[in-house]
Amino acid sequence: MPKSYGTTFTADMVLAILSGRKSMTRRVIEKIDMYKNIKPGDEIYVKEAWQTRENLDHLKPSELPTDCEILYRAGDIPIPLPRKWRFGMFMPEWAARIRRTVVATRVEKLQEIITEDIKPCPFCGAEAQFENCWSGYSCDNLIYITCSNIECRVGPSTDAYKTKRTVVKYWNRRVSQRLTEWR
Ligand SMILES: [Zn+2]
Repeated sequence: MPKSYGTTFTADMVLAILSGRKSMTRRVIEKIDMYKNIKPGDEIYVKEAWQTRENLDHLKPSELPTDCEILYRAGDIPIPLPRKWRFGMFMPEWAARIRRTVVATRVEKLQEIITEDIKPCPFCGAEAQFENCWSGYSCDNLIYITCSNIECRVGPSTDAYKTKRTVVKYWNRRVSQRLTEWR
């Protein structure tokens, strides 16, 4: 049974979706996240900045009549009123104007794990290495991890910590995203 999922987008993104320029979104997977559950065949609807007419401004989204007029921030409706927009995250499903059918999802790891201990530099792919802080500084006896490639254009390094275990934990942290494509 296909399900329907609300997804928040900024006004720029909404315009890109409406014009057909945008047909996918990448979202970081959190521990509890609806993006894990989205499957091809499901529907996503766009939650975007919106308004009702002024006489309904005092009402919560759940109190609004579901046939009331909705004004969308992304679009060609000139709204000269100096009024605040309602946040997309509070848009009820019935107020959404954009619906798309999901055709594909996949998890993309931002970086591949190459070594078991320290992952490579996420920017140049070179090995990363432990470094000791110079003695005499406040971080004496602390260690950090840095990219070993002197030609690395970024040269990332962690903060300094007491144990290798801690510093590896921070260096090796990579986020995954899930891609959702629609038509
Ligand atoms: Zn590097």
